[in-house]
Amino acid sequence: MSSRKFFVGGNWKMNGSKGELDNLVNLLAKNSSETEVVVAPPFVFLDYLHNKKTNFGNNITNYIIFFIALSGQNCYKESKGAFTGEISPKMLKDVGADWVILGHSERRHVFGEKDDLIADKVAFALKEGLSVIFCIGEKIEERENNLTEKICFGQLGAIKDKIKDWSKIVVAYEPVWAIGTGKTATPEQAQEIHQALRKWLHDNISQDASNKTRILYGGSVTGANCKELAAKADIDGFLVGGASLKPEFANIVNSKN
Ligand code: PEP
Repeated sequence: MSSRKFFVGGNWKMNGSKGELDNLVNLLAKNSSETEVVVAPPFVFLDYLHNKKTNFGNNITNYIIFFIALSGQNCYKESKGAFTGEISPKMLKDVGADWVILGHSERRHVFGEKDDLIADKVAFALKEGLSVIFCIGEKIEERENNLTEKICFGQLGAIKDKIKDWSKIVVAYEPVWAIGTGKTATPEQAQEIHQALRKWLHDNISQDASNKTRILYGGSVTGANCKELAAKADIDGFLVGGASLKPEFANIVNSKN
């Protein structure tokens, strides 16, 4: 049995409204205390959820969110300045986020973020006291050309020299072809690359980082496929997009039970 605490992140992307957030949080009433749960709402709702966490009184929604950590979906590599549209790690912390998602495939492939910028952002977020969900993953043509490991190792390698402490990083392996497509990696495909990623951590960082770093799978995880994936030795949790907006998210959170 692994000593790594099972971790489930909900990436709500650009979805929701204050009213819908209450419903989403209520879905987590059956939350397992065995699982670390982190949700990433759009930036503008972080403060709203943070207020619920700090003033939970007798309100059940507020009580539930008390046990869930908050994450930003992105942040910049500077603390302040003339960077229109960006927000800093310090601002995320100020509105109650302890985590940030960086390197997500939509940031890489829709907004054109490159390894160097992502690595600077990861290093700065850690320096400023956030924990990081660091996403990596190959595109379909890269998988078909047997480049999956090369791409993922390259994305990890980009942060290697800028990061000293891996204890605040969770790696999310998210094959781009599986994100939002309904195509999930089979448990065997996912386990194979997770095992290779763990070996990369051993060979390039340390035995300790390899033993302790949580490696999440992301890509069309649902209530129906989560248990089989969660049973694999090197899958330590999930980063969930679409299904984190639905009641089945509670099943995913509890998939290890
Ligand atoms: C994601 O955006 O990180 C993700 C995994 O999305 P989905 O679960 O919808 O594939």
